[in-house]
Amino acid sequence: MKTVRFAPSPTGYIHIGNARTALFNWLYAKRDGGRFILRLDDTDQERSEERYAQAIVGDLNWLGIEPDETVRQSDRFATYAAAAERLKAEGLLYPCYETQEELERRRRLRLARRLPPIYGREALKLSEEERADLEASGKKPHWRFRLPNFRDDPFQPEPTPVEWDDLVRGPQQVDLASLSDPVLIRADGTWLYTLPSVVDDGDLGVTDIIRGDDHVTNTGVQLALFDALELKRPNFGHHNLLTDPTGAGLSKRTGAQSIRGLREAGLEPMAVASMATLIGTSQSVKVFDDLDALAEDFDPASASKSAARYDETELWALNRSILHETPFADVEERLGALGIDGEEAPGFWMIVRANLDRFEDVQDWWHIVKDGPVEPVSFESDDDRNFARAAFDHLPEGEWDETIWKRWTDAVKAETGRKGRGLFMPLRLALTGRRAGPELADLVVLLGRERTLARRP
Ligand code: GLU
Repeated sequence: MKTVRFAPSPTGYIHIGNARTALFNWLYAKRDGGRFILRLDDTDQERSEERYAQAIVGDLNWLGIEPDETVRQSDRFATYAAAAERLKAEGLLYPCYETQEELERRRRLRLARRLPPIYGREALKLSEEERADLEASGKKPHWRFRLPNFRDDPFQPEPTPVEWDDLVRGPQQVDLASLSDPVLIRADGTWLYTLPSVVDDGDLGVTDIIRGDDHVTNTGVQLALFDALELKRPNFGHHNLLTDPTGAGLSKRTGAQSIRGLREAGLEPMAVASMATLIGTSQSVKVFDDLDALAEDFDPASASKSAARYDETELWALNRSILHETPFADVEERLGALGIDGEEAPGFWMIVRANLDRFEDVQDWWHIVKDGPVEPVSFESDDDRNFARAAFDHLPEGEWDETIWKRWTDAVKAETGRKGRGLFMPLRLALTGRRAGPELADLVVLLGRERTLARRP
């Protein structure tokens, strides 16, 4: 069975780019009845906050993602420590004592000598004694993973391509000789993301990892670590990232496009989910009814290799298209919660839905229908006001049915000679207080004679 995971750090609200990663995993697994794990990468206990962990769960649920299992890295430190001990015993995790300044100086020296600016493994040359002296002087080591990029001499790295068939990008390779041995444990004993991630993926039986293409290089390192720990290599896929319309990356820190914010702005979850999934793929961006329908059509390999610009105005267009097509039965409950119910509710929904940017806007229209304009009616001229007032004197007698609007406006036309916008806009303003809205022919049927007359200016 496929097992995937989504692994955010609970250090902020997730944004639409993070939602893309979660959805790619969810859709990929669920299409085949697989499992989805939410892994909270909270090894940084200073920056991780419970409120963000809860917000992530809430935002995923809102999108339609219900994790089969949730794990927190902060509960698993002992497991990481055991893996680290094993690597240390094999000489694959070694202590280093350099300061940032020293590393920077060496990096510049290497560049000047036209050597790749990677860590030269100087700490491997320390004798037992030198190490003991450093420790005695109070120095705490950070720990690096010795990449398998040499034959006999660790100071002579040789090209070592690590290859995988990427679920999104096809065949990929990373040359381990081009990378520094990664630090797995900081001098203060805290974990960097690499080892906990690999240990968890192995331990939790993750079969497929889909994440942003900013992780491609990490994958080279992580594959080497899977091998070193004798864990089964999962499949990897790296999707393109989303940027804002100016091409800048989305960031949790700026709160840009947080799922929370989009939700509070009144967007429908399937507008956000459809956009987050389909933008930057070869598939057209359109709205799906639910995640199951989206999953049927979903193919991670359809994602393009370059970043995709995401523009919130397109999201609003999707939102409108959802609302415009939603049948009454699908929103009956939500309408009821806003106090929109009774025998008029179904007909009301059908005539106003095409005018909604966001679902909540329906409340104003309900008020307009029930009680009259919500904003003070402002005509374009006194002339228009007088015209509108007079027009109400020509409301036809007899049946109030779908022909009433035509009969009424024909009579007004004949009487006043007004037509087109000059005829309709004053009437629209009188009836609704707004310059745009539902078809007036439908609206007057819904209003009935009494409520129509009550709107006489
Ligand atoms: N916590 C990591 C991140 O958000 C997870 C990356 C991964 O999916 O492996 O970047």
